[in-house]
Amino acid sequence: MRRIDLSNFQVARSETARDINRRIVLNLIRTHQPISRADLARHSGLQRSTVSVIAEQLIKERWITEGANGHTPRGRRPTFLHLNKERVGIIGINVRPITTTLALADLDANFLAQDSLSTPSDPKQFVAELVPRVRKLMGARPELTCEGIGVSLPGRVDLASKRLVFAPNLGWREFDLKTPLEKATKLPVELENAANSCALSEICFGRRAEGLRNLVVVTVSEGIGCGLILNHQLVQGSTGTAGEFGHAALVPDGLECSCGNRGCWEMYASNSAAIRYYSQAISSTRAPRRRTTADERTISFEHLLRLADQGDNRAGDALQQMAKYLGLGIAPLVSGLAPDMIVIVGEVTRAWHQVGPTIKETVKQHSFTRAETQIVPSDPITQPRLRGTIALVLLKHFGAPAIV
Ligand SMILES: [Zn+2]
Repeated sequence: MRRIDLSNFQVARSETARDINRRIVLNLIRTHQPISRADLARHSGLQRSTVSVIAEQLIKERWITEGANGHTPRGRRPTFLHLNKERVGIIGINVRPITTTLALADLDANFLAQDSLSTPSDPKQFVAELVPRVRKLMGARPELTCEGIGVSLPGRVDLASKRLVFAPNLGWREFDLKTPLEKATKLPVELENAANSCALSEICFGRRAEGLRNLVVVTVSEGIGCGLILNHQLVQGSTGTAGEFGHAALVPDGLECSCGNRGCWEMYASNSAAIRYYSQAISSTRAPRRRTTADERTISFEHLLRLADQGDNRAGDALQQMAKYLGLGIAPLVSGLAPDMIVIVGEVTRAWHQVGPTIKETVKQHSFTRAETQIVPSDPITQPRLRGTIALVLLKHFGAPAIV
């Protein structure tokens, strides 16, 4: 049972009730479209007249439209309602240490146009390069009204100041990305950690995780982040940095991490770790006189996946080592949180047939619990990190309102 927070609450006014009902109807249309008013009343438990009033308001605001007539055995043929995809555009920006991708999406999180740029090391330069690209995307479909910009970051966002904090892999110090972006584009900007936005995206659009009560998303890239949904709520912690299991010490006195600590999980289970395992393997097996070339030492993770797929043993071993450490870090999440599902996001899921069994086996060996947590890969084709940015803006209209 969720307790009422008596130190911070708003009493329920009639507007609150109206807002909740409106969001329920809007969400039902999104997930069941096309849907008739009668079915909306049946699914929501609202009075038919209440549904009609809300639907008229949503049509007036152009969130939804009426489509074709439905067929019933007898009586009046109902008109179906669906989201008005021609009305709203959302800009999504996925920031990663090397490349930033951005897209214009519709209400169903379909990408209509995309762009990318190299992520500069200076955040001010980043904003200067980003803004014209955002404007260009907004102009790609001028008939759409842009509702906002969602940004996912390889760091955490301070709950109070909305500044980016703790982004060791990006190398940016505390930085306000929201204000200059809002000023330049005149659009509201939602910032969120990449793992958190992926978790929100999974419960909004995920094929398997939609509507799950307890979900952990583990994003595996240059680093590792976790997004936690517990009891349908995103866990943010006291300052917004909850979920940083990537920087939980897994190996005592282990390798030094960019966060300043030693032995962090991500030092052993991230893409960068797999590249290191591979580089070490080729360095140690080369003939002493032949030095490894810079190319061999700076192989990309994509390349490593290709080599493993082609049967290269050292690349395969590097992935296995990464998978073992992924399992070692996921095991305490299973034991401690007992989520319904853990979704892994990242390029590594393309090699799921190789890494999946190792991850699951390691988790099984190291978590002593009755939890029946499924461990599944996200589908990389859906671009989950970029899709997560769309969820950030959508949830402002479709998510549960803040009433506590
Ligand atoms: Zn660390």
